Amino acid sequence: MPDGSLIPQVSGPGGFPALVLNADFRPLSYFPLSVWSWQDAVKAVVLERVSVLSEYETEVRSPSFSLRLPSVIALRDYIPAARRPAFTRFNVFLRDRFECQYCGEAKPAQELTFDHVIPRSRGGRTSWQNVVAACGPCNLRKGSRLPRECNMLPRQEPRQPTSWELQENGRAFPPNHLHESWRDYLYWDSELEQG
Ligand SMILES: [Zn+2]
Repeated sequence: MPDGSLIPQVSGPGGFPALVLNADFRPLSYFPLSVWSWQDAVKAVVLERVSVLSEYETEVRSPSFSLRLPSVIALRDYIPAARRPAFTRFNVFLRDRFECQYCGEAKPAQELTFDHVIPRSRGGRTSWQNVVAACGPCNLRKGSRLPRECNMLPRQEPRQPTSWELQENGRAFPPNHLHESWRDYLYWDSELEQG
């Protein structure tokens, strides 16, 4: 068993992350992409919770143990997606593809706001069916008016997405860091479509 003293020969902050796939070899999550630190990946390998599909050149060593750092791992036990995705700010933005539902502009998360289509002051609820992503200027312009009072209707009628829909939307956002060995697992079905 490796202990906490394992140190990779080449180290760097946040170096050697492992892409984590479900037992069906699809990423556990596309956005944010499911990646583990090398420490967590090595621990899971040693505990036999994952299979290693690809490795880095770099090894970790202890007196009794040496292991190449995994770059892609797959869980041995399949984790089913939650049937109903959690109602979070992030998931609302992901459902709306990070686009303001009034002007249609794509924005980084920090520039988006959470808009109640029917304002709370007019009895609107905080729910999948009444909350959309909106940019600051549109949110301000709409204020506490009803959609028909200001002629501002969301581009898509808000509703609860499925986990599959969120996962599909997430695929549109390539991660900042992409190791060569991850590509096959991230884009394999789109490659197949082209073939
Ligand atoms: Zn807008």
